[in-house]
Amino acid sequence: MTNLNIKGLKNKSTHSHISFSDSVNHMVERAFKVLNLDPGIAEAMQACNSTIQLKFPVEIDGKIEVFTGWRATHSSHRLPSKGGIRYAPIVNQDEVEALAALMTYKCAIVDVPFGGSKGGLLIDPTKYSSESMQKITRTFARELIRKGFLSPSINVPAPDMGTGEREMAWIADTYKQLHPEDVNHAACVTGKPVAHGGIRGRTEATGRGVVYAIREFFRHPGDMKKANLKGSLGGKRIVIQGLGNVGYHAAKLLQEEDEALIIAVIERDGALINDNGIVIESLKQHINEHGTIKGYPDATFTENGHSALELQCDILIPAAMEAQITDANVDRINTKLIVEAANGPVTFSADEKLRSRGVTILPDAYVNAGGVTVSYFEWVRNLSHIRFGRMERRFDEARGQHLITAMESVSQKQLPDWIRNEIVRGADELDLVRSGLDDTMRLAYKELSEARMENPGVDDFRTASYVVAVKKIARSYTDIGVY
Ligand code: NAD
Repeated sequence: MTNLNIKGLKNKSTHSHISFSDSVNHMVERAFKVLNLDPGIAEAMQACNSTIQLKFPVEIDGKIEVFTGWRATHSSHRLPSKGGIRYAPIVNQDEVEALAALMTYKCAIVDVPFGGSKGGLLIDPTKYSSESMQKITRTFARELIRKGFLSPSINVPAPDMGTGEREMAWIADTYKQLHPEDVNHAACVTGKPVAHGGIRGRTEATGRGVVYAIREFFRHPGDMKKANLKGSLGGKRIVIQGLGNVGYHAAKLLQEEDEALIIAVIERDGALINDNGIVIESLKQHINEHGTIKGYPDATFTENGHSALELQCDILIPAAMEAQITDANVDRINTKLIVEAANGPVTFSADEKLRSRGVTILPDAYVNAGGVTVSYFEWVRNLSHIRFGRMERRFDEARGQHLITAMESVSQKQLPDWIRNEIVRGADELDLVRSGLDDTMRLAYKELSEARMENPGVDDFRTASYVVAVKKIARSYTDIGVY
């Protein structure tokens, strides 16, 4: 029950509005123009290499249901190809291919040596029991494995909307059952629970990466000035859409570590607004208990959640899904900085309008790359079969202790406790993951800044990020040769 669409054979969207893939393609074409890229290379780069559509039956409560899922491999110039699997009641081939393309560019921007891929399953996970979800996920995974679309060396999924550690553990176990001889079986998927080969810090990685990107922006006074922003992140008024994995971790860190004010949270059932700030942890607890933001006592609820995207604020963080800022609302968007934690939240034509209005956008392909970055760390950890920091932690602690002894004996003074503790502490896996993520986001920002300086007319971060990505991918195509 498989329909393999090879490059060039997929149906083009016939809708009058522009599709998600076309939106991504048009944005990338700005970079092609700047770089004067060979049209053949450009076409090869934009084409989605292969997409598999699966229709598979699963018995649920004595009845057979047929599910539809996709996995698209946009590029395999680097292997494995990498990208999340989303479970949603609305997902289609075009969406999965657009997201796979974004993965290609994203990996290049943050120097993660993977191709781009993405998967989707048409399902409303809230309508099924955990047992049924496990059956469905295991069947989907088995089909993908059998068709060559899931393995440690070729194609490695991760969580996305509607999936998390639980689904990744089921997928890893399904692969292990089918390939017990593969010593690297744990590397077939990332975002697993730590007890099953996952890495500390993966769950929060995308949200944390979003915050590292914003902090880096705030270290660049010239960029802040252009966006009409001053001072530090503390007290900045933030509106966030989506309090799922990415949105929750980003909002929580911004509030607790940077003292930013989260003045509105938009969810699928409405929005909460409080000019003095919403306490994210307490709201999350309310959502976990009641399954909705409704009834949260310390903010004003509005049924028309989408309209809260138009609130006056310093930073707007769409962290839910694609196509949220469109021609329909772009003229009323009233923020200085848009941080695309979600994939594709701003459509191509809305992006053109925001650019002409001078609204700064930190684009998805850079901003939410923290997830794939830490997935890369997890994959490397799985292949090396050892936890990061295991060999050197105690050695570093002993060396720190020697350093303290030497400093104190030379100075005849005792160092304050907090300095002693910092020097003597060996990094554990979480420290290393956070350090690697922070470094990645900062280096990528530097490359985007250089691209903006070196290419006249490239002022916005989105075009700069695609210039960086396209250059690297084109280089890998021409180095190896297209044949
Ligand atoms: P999630 O399923 O954990 O959370 C999504 C949240 O958005 C949920 O709370 C949901 O209720 C809310 N939501 C859905 N539709 C909404 C709407 N119309 N209006 C307001 N809220 C809505 O998903 P996630 O993993 O946090 O992913 C969010 C976005 O980030 C997606 O675009 C995804 O592709 C992107 N992303 C995720 C990761 C990751 O590691 N999870 C990595 C990179 C990019």
